[in-house]
Amino acid sequence: MKQHNFSAGPAILPQTVFEQAAQAAQDYNGIGLSLMEISHRSPEFTAILEEAQVLVRDLLGVSEEYAVLFLQGGASSQFFMTAMNLLPASGKAGYVDTGSWSAKAIKEAQAFGGVEVLASSKEQNYTHIPKGYAIPEELAYLHITTNNTIFGTQYKSLPETNVPIVADMSSDIFSKPVDIDRFDLIYAGAQKNMGPAGVTLVIVRKEALGKVERHIPTMLDYRTHIKKNSAFNTPPVFPIFVSMLTLRWVKANGGVEAMQKRNAEKAELMYKAIDDNPLFRGTVTDPADRSTMNATFLLAEGREELSDEFLNACKEAHCNGVKGHRSVGGFRASMYNAMDIESVQVLTEIMKDFANKHA
Ligand SMILES: *Cc1c(COP(=O)(O)O)cnc(C)c1O
Repeated sequence: MKQHNFSAGPAILPQTVFEQAAQAAQDYNGIGLSLMEISHRSPEFTAILEEAQVLVRDLLGVSEEYAVLFLQGGASSQFFMTAMNLLPASGKAGYVDTGSWSAKAIKEAQAFGGVEVLASSKEQNYTHIPKGYAIPEELAYLHITTNNTIFGTQYKSLPETNVPIVADMSSDIFSKPVDIDRFDLIYAGAQKNMGPAGVTLVIVRKEALGKVERHIPTMLDYRTHIKKNSAFNTPPVFPIFVSMLTLRWVKANGGVEAMQKRNAEKAELMYKAIDDNPLFRGTVTDPADRSTMNATFLLAEGREELSDEFLNACKEAHCNGVKGHRSVGGFRASMYNAMDIESVQVLTEIMKDFANKHA
């Protein structure tokens, strides 16, 4: 039975990708061996790694000024690696606090240099993206989280500044075009919109490196991985392969421009269903900040006792992963690239039927 997978992450990938991955797990390209049992220095895997890098460059328009790396340790390791590699001990970085992931990035960076939290929406439980704050010119970088997976907010335009931006794009990379030149570094854990858990994409401006004095352990120095082309040690072979397949799928389906259009259609349908329904309300206070990837919503005030019944209705209709994160409550519909609009239609119909039943 087809499931409509609204899980926030690990999350939905294209069905064809799962099929190709299953085949490669058993017999890669007819060589009689699984992709999991051959050398990461084999011509087979070298070709996969190269194609994955080319696809990243091609889809996002990444020039040779940047390195494209596939690392381990999740986006969570990037919280400290970015600061360790880019923030001089005597320097200062600016951070915008838009959710739990931003807060974790701030905490980790504080060990390496000056961290100035330029704005925060924490007091309002992260229900909007702060705007109109000053960004000092002398910052080493400005760190933002472009999509707040837990709180359902997303930057629709970048902060206005000449300061290079470092961004956690874990949950909206490849969902729309990116103005790469504005960034010194972009990182993303794969498991939201790019592939399975186990690999982290890093796009880094090569010139931004080598400006800090501290000792950086070899594995945590981006220059190690640039020099060894993401194969200093054994890279996560299978997650890189599945990410490559997903990027092929993005390209075959029109690239990030087509993804943006497809995601906007799904988000419009979803948010209209929330706004038009008396039984539900969105959690994000400024509609302009609503995420196209993760729609967060609650039951109307006084109707919260219907929560379990609604989740059951979702389950019966094969809608998976709709329960909200504990720090927001309610519900969350994650609608990453691979989700078809038909799945959103199914969920919005459940919401309508549910409201009629409980009118
Ligand atoms: C999921 C998520 C993370 C954490 O990623 P890990 O790969 O589990 O470390 C960080 N930032 C954002 C925006 C996320 O959605």
